[in-house]
Amino acid sequence: MITVKHLYKSFNSHEVLNNINCTIHDGEVVVIIGPSGSGKSTLLRCLNLLETPTQGSIIIDGQDIMTRKINIDQVREKMGMVFQQFNLFPHKTVIQNICHAPIRVRKMKKYDAEQQGLELLRKVGLRDKKDAYPITLSGGQQQRIAIARALAMQPNAMLFDEPTSALDPEMVSEVLNVIKDLAKEGMTMVIVTHEMGFAKEVGDRVIFMDGGQIVEENTPDAMFNHPQHARTQNFLSKIL
Ligand code: ADP
Ligand code: MG
Repeated sequence: MITVKHLYKSFNSHEVLNNINCTIHDGEVVVIIGPSGSGKSTLLRCLNLLETPTQGSIIIDGQDIMTRKINIDQVREKMGMVFQQFNLFPHKTVIQNICHAPIRVRKMKKYDAEQQGLELLRKVGLRDKKDAYPITLSGGQQQRIAIARALAMQPNAMLFDEPTSALDPEMVSEVLNVIKDLAKEGMTMVIVTHEMGFAKEVGDRVIFMDGGQIVEENTPDAMFNHPQHARTQNFLSKIL
């Protein structure tokens, strides 16, 4: 469903993505690992045009999203994105956070958006927090709300950029469990994470990036137990 071909991205003269090629199939969970600064976030951000690639193509459901006539908002609607920082609207309640975009962007009726919002809150285990303000919630709860908010736009795929990196250790699993449930439901996902146990468990495929390139991609088992490249071996030896 998502095909990336010969993708390049530079910031001024600094080349951050250097000829990225990859395909993400419907229902697949792809985990991206790699050292800090290797271009993981930039790649995710290119997939929903939060960054404009310098060169190359990104084809989503048969449509090249880099052509001029594309509607960027529609591309973003199809790709739910969850960041390290939860970015909830602080002055809105939980349910208002979740209903905002469906009402404003998708023109859903308020009642329908709220019913959907409550269902999503049940799914992330926070039905009782619907009228709470983000500041009163823990980091793990806020991140689960951020996931529910992204799902409220009924995306075709979800992109996660280190969704647990800003959390205290005891809150990591509650967020990972929500993502695991999405995987079981067949959601197409691209997940940047340093949680290697989680990567092994939910990843259909693992991509190792270094220096703006995909150095190696393989099944989790092959990647973690038999990494082929010296750079992958070196990275894994430091973190496992
Ligand atoms: P990762 O997520 O793997 O840590 P990033 O994609 O965030 O890597 O960053 C890759 C490189 O691109 C880094 O050297 C970073 O400093 C640079 N970079 C990222 N965003 C910008 C930006 N908006 N302007 C300039 N340089 C950037
Ligand atoms: Mg990053």
